Amino acid sequence: MSTVLSALYLGPASGTAAVTTTLGAGWQVLAPETTPAAVLPLLPQVHAILDASMKVPLRQAELDTAVHLKLIATATTGADHIDSKALAARSIPLLTLKGQKQVLNELTPAAELSWMLLMACARHLRAANRHVEAGLWDREKFPGMLLKGRILGLIGCGRIGQWMSRYATAFGMRVIGYDPYLPETEWPATIERTDLDTLLQNAHAVSIHVHLSDETRGLVGPREFTLIRPGTILINTSRGAICDEDALLQALESGHLGGYGTDVLEGEPAIQTSRIWQYAQKHDNCLITPHIGGFSPDAVDIVLKFAATRIRDFFATQG
Ligand code: NAD
Repeated sequence: MSTVLSALYLGPASGTAAVTTTLGAGWQVLAPETTPAAVLPLLPQVHAILDASMKVPLRQAELDTAVHLKLIATATTGADHIDSKALAARSIPLLTLKGQKQVLNELTPAAELSWMLLMACARHLRAANRHVEAGLWDREKFPGMLLKGRILGLIGCGRIGQWMSRYATAFGMRVIGYDPYLPETEWPATIERTDLDTLLQNAHAVSIHVHLSDETRGLVGPREFTLIRPGTILINTSRGAICDEDALLQALESGHLGGYGTDVLEGEPAIQTSRIWQYAQKHDNCLITPHIGGFSPDAVDIVLKFAATRIRDFFATQG
């Protein structure tokens, strides 16, 4: 390739080197601030866009100015901020991570955080840490749940659910799972398939790994909380609204639920009106992190290299 091609990279500055190295010789990488003011003036000169930020909407008007554009690759599964119809009208491919199982399956940060929440709840980490910070040292206040020999119930047995099943197996747990949509041929050997009621009645810890949809909103509701066995730890790194807030609060306040570990709250980031957040102000058995599950520079690096490789390969076949 004799002419130099221009790629517009939209993402964290720490990823520029990975993109530049992956694209290799023959490419100039433009990495502006991810604001419309900085990005839009560059559009007329770029041949490809690698978007990992989702911060700059690329609608018809903006795309019309990108006269040399041949390809957009995103390092995300969703790309609602890009006008795919305007691209299709010009036969410009939009390559997202949706369905790219070979790379998605390697991304473990949300699963690792889910496992951390489970362990932290099982060992009363929040309360124990506060106890020591207050200058106290009384281990009898924190009877831990032994995971070995216990049952983990997974609601949703896709990518993250399957990683959880591997961690649980390594800890000597038995794993049961409910997922009405996962075909039998893809069902993992580490999980025993079951129905939701049996799962709730038997699991000592339940972890939720489904997308939020009309069907899954309130999936764990008043009926489900009565089925859950007393003392169960519930983990939710999917979306807050998958648990019915009233029913969850009641299960926590009554002491029926042993603990709730979550990375997501309904209404986030406006969390102070969340009754779960309010509950956690006064109770240590509710552990909340600020939607950090998927956020790890190591994982970002993997998806950036994947997207940059797709751009490089696409142009290599263009001649
Ligand atoms: P996935 O698509 O690989 O798996 C989801 C599974 O849920 C699928 O196997 C599907 O068949 C199953 N499912 C669908 N409807 C169901 C239902 N009604 N009952 C039971 N199972 C059902 O998704 P994933 O990558 O494992 O992600 C799971 C969730 O984690 C998503 O909601 C995602 O948004 C969330 N997530 C959160 C973070 C974070 O930072 N906290 C990061 C990544 C993903």
